[in-house]
Order: sequence, then structure tokens, then C-alpha cells
Amino acid sequence: MKETPVALEIYNYLQQRMQLSPSEKTKQQNLYKGYVGEKALHALLKKNLPSHYLCMTDLLLESNQTEFQIDILLIGGRTIYPLEVKHYEGDFIIQDDGWYVVSSKSEIRNPIHQLKRMEVLFKSVLGNKFSNFDIEPNIVFTHPEFYLYQAPIDLPLIFPTQIMRFIQELQSASSHQSQQHSSLVHFLEEQRMTQSTYEQLPTYSYDHLKKGIVCTKCSEFLVPFSTLKLLCKNCQTKERIETAIKRNLVEFMQLFPGKKITTNAIYEWCDIIQSKQSVRRVLKSHLTAIGKGKQTYYVSK
Ligand SMILES: [Zn+2]
Repeated sequence: MKETPVALEIYNYLQQRMQLSPSEKTKQQNLYKGYVGEKALHALLKKNLPSHYLCMTDLLLESNQTEFQIDILLIGGRTIYPLEVKHYEGDFIIQDDGWYVVSSKSEIRNPIHQLKRMEVLFKSVLGNKFSNFDIEPNIVFTHPEFYLYQAPIDLPLIFPTQIMRFIQELQSASSHQSQQHSSLVHFLEEQRMTQSTYEQLPTYSYDHLKKGIVCTKCSEFLVPFSTLKLLCKNCQTKERIETAIKRNLVEFMQLFPGKKITTNAIYEWCDIIQSKQSVRRVLKSHLTAIGKGKQTYYVSK
């Protein structure tokens, strides 16, 4: 499935270069857990489901000006399965209508309410067009260490130890892919909205970020070692200067998509590279140069 989400990648870059607030750290953690859970489930489905099942991920939709997301959507036979993936870890308990973390006794957002809301909104997106499909929403818990006390038997929940059985049930429901399946996918692709990555991020600016090149192994900043290599004093990892510049360039482009890429800009961003010539060489070999001389800047190939 998808690679690391851009928002998560940017958080990972930022945490080396600025102080994240506790709430930003929580946000980063949630992005990470969501990603891990979804990735694991998607891989399982992909490996085990017959090919007539169609699968969509991270489907961001809108109904009556309300946005909602479906983590994984399966379509097979006459049924649509919207799956909400939760990578909760540890013990939880349902009391009355509330969900609580057992250790801290703190209440969490009731995922059933969230699922119901999603179902209502999703039905209104589909309208009458695809009313012959049944909709079977479920919450899938992907963390092996998750446990939920006092869960009523009739809730649409799939626990870690039930995921394979859920997949087996899907396997045994025989079906073919039909024209209607693909027109449903086509319809949803048209409705799909793109999420603004930058809305999910903390505010940051170039001036406030620490410049330099971060070690790939331990996240310390690298120092010059020889004419060809940089060194991490913390874990002794050495990296070729050109590879390190290239990595830092990718980081720069992702953090500041609007900023002009020039030799000087990347030279300053890398902070510890002694020769501008090596920065220029990296830019030239990975990007397209526009303009000449001092005015030269670079864009993606
Ligand atoms: Zn290191």
C-alpha cells in the first residue's frame, strides 16, 4: 500500500530540527499508529483476498459539507465493507456507552459513534445509485496487544485474533467482478478529495529549524569527516557526502515545497558541506537546472 504518509514523514523531519509540543508529539504518534495498523491490515488483505475484491484506501469523502474518511474500503459481491482501522494498544473497557483506557481510566472517543457517523455519511454519498449494495461497516483492531473488556457480542468489531477468520469468510463468498463494481470504484474515485497534508502539521518556518544533515541511524547531526564522507560522532556511521546532500535535498523539498532550490539555499540548509561544488553536482544530477550563472535554480525532473 501507500508509502509513509507525507505528513508523518514531515513530522519525523521536524522532530530533529525543532521542539515539538506535547500535543504535536501525540499527533505524530497517532499518525504513526494509524499508518502501521492500516499498512499491516492492507498487506494481509492483499495477500489473502481473491482478486475479484476491489480495495480502496484512505478514501476522503464529503457529504453535506462534512468530511469523513474511510481507512479501507472493500467491494465484493453485493457488499461494500468500509473498514475503520484502530491500532489501539493495551486494555480498554466499555462502560455504559463510554470507552475507557483501563490503566488511566481516561475516556476515548467512542469509535462506534464514529463508525455510525461514517456509515450515514457514506450512504448519502452513494445516494440511490448503488442502493443494491449492502453496506457492512466494521472496526478492525490491528494491534496484537489490544484487549477490550465488556464488549457486547453484537458490535461491529473485528479483534486481532478474528482478522484471519474475517478474511476467510470473504474468501468463501464466491463472486465475480462486475461492471457495477468498477463503476462504483470509478464513482468513488471521482468523489475522493485530496487531503491537505499541511493542514495536519504544526506551524514551522525555515528560520526556526536547525540546519544540518541528520544521521540516518541515530538522528544526531553529522560532522565533516573527509573530503568524501561525513561522520556521526554518536554512532560512528559514515556517509558519502553526495548521498547525504541528496537526502537533505529531499527533506528540504518536502518541508518547503514553495521555496526556490538554488545551490546557495541547499548549501545553507546542509550547513556543514565545505564545497558548494558538491552541492551543485548533486542538484545537477537529480534535478533540472533553469537559467544560467548566479540566477540558476532547480526543479524536479
Ligand atoms: Zn548516528
